[in-house]
Amino acid sequence: MRKIRVLILSLFLLPAALLAQAPDSLSAAGAGEVPGDFVTEAGTFREGSGAPVDTLDIGDGRLLLVLRDDHTWYYIKNIEKLAADSTFIKDWIPNSTNPYRVPLDSLPLRNTICLVDSASVFVCPNQTKVFSRFGYRHGRRHQGADLPYKTGTPVVAAFDGRVRVSDYSGGYGNLIVIRHENGLETYYGHLSKREVEVGDWVRAGDQIGLGGSTGRSTGPHLHFETRWQGFAFDPEWIVDFEKGQLRSNVFVLRRSYLNASSHYVPESLDEEEDLYAAEEKILAEEKRLAAERAAVRYYTVKSGDTLGAIAKRQGKSLNAILKLNPGVNANKLRIGQKIRVN
Ligand SMILES: [Zn+2]
Repeated sequence: MRKIRVLILSLFLLPAALLAQAPDSLSAAGAGEVPGDFVTEAGTFREGSGAPVDTLDIGDGRLLLVLRDDHTWYYIKNIEKLAADSTFIKDWIPNSTNPYRVPLDSLPLRNTICLVDSASVFVCPNQTKVFSRFGYRHGRRHQGADLPYKTGTPVVAAFDGRVRVSDYSGGYGNLIVIRHENGLETYYGHLSKREVEVGDWVRAGDQIGLGGSTGRSTGPHLHFETRWQGFAFDPEWIVDFEKGQLRSNVFVLRRSYLNASSHYVPESLDEEEDLYAAEEKILAEEKRLAAERAAVRYYTVKSGDTLGAIAKRQGKSLNAILKLNPGVNANKLRIGQKIRVN
């Protein structure tokens, strides 16, 4: 009974994407043992001290639930399965600072991104006041948040993920880029030392390098970026650096945040709703106009045509056709003239 409750609870906590793809959820993966290949233990429910008694495949095998004999449980991630996920294959170009080639207006107006769930955590790179924020400064775009960081201080991964860039890269100096399971990427620039390689899997809190001042930098600090489809957005949308916490576990990324001149603005819930409603209205209007444009049709006048006959053939009244063609004289049609019929 207890186990069943535990399972139901954990299902609620799982990212919807995992569940949506679950062909046959909760099929047992192994007989009472944690497979050795499954290297990543994750999750916060680790207080138990019992011995693992069963491993359950949650969804498609990317996440396994390990049950202990004291009725506690924890999650492990199946790296092999994760590596086969399109998130870690599509637009995966090692050491490219921007492998995506997506036009901004092709991205959705709103995108709901699960930042952490019951199997993953967030670790703040540095709990501090941001000393240089996202946006334009001195006419030059700044795509991240600068956090004070002494040279030689360990820099850690903010979320679980896979290292896509570990390279010396121009203005960034020593740069690490990690791609996360939700598709976000985090950038860590100006490091004095890189301690992970392309392809390495890291967990939130793992040390990936040391703070420094390499590249275009005036003093030791960590340049921290968050990107979606190659577009940087203000990390302060998701992280309250002074508190060292995420603002929420689920983040609604608006396309407008991906603009280089936008920056984090604390919003009340009401304003948020207003903004949402306004965006929805614009979207609906755009759709209506596009449908209207798509529906416009013309007829080319031929010898012997009259406007009345054209209207009749289109199943429309003469008046309706005249309304669509305000400049047209029904008694003076020319052969080859274009008449709007819809
Ligand atoms: Zn910076």
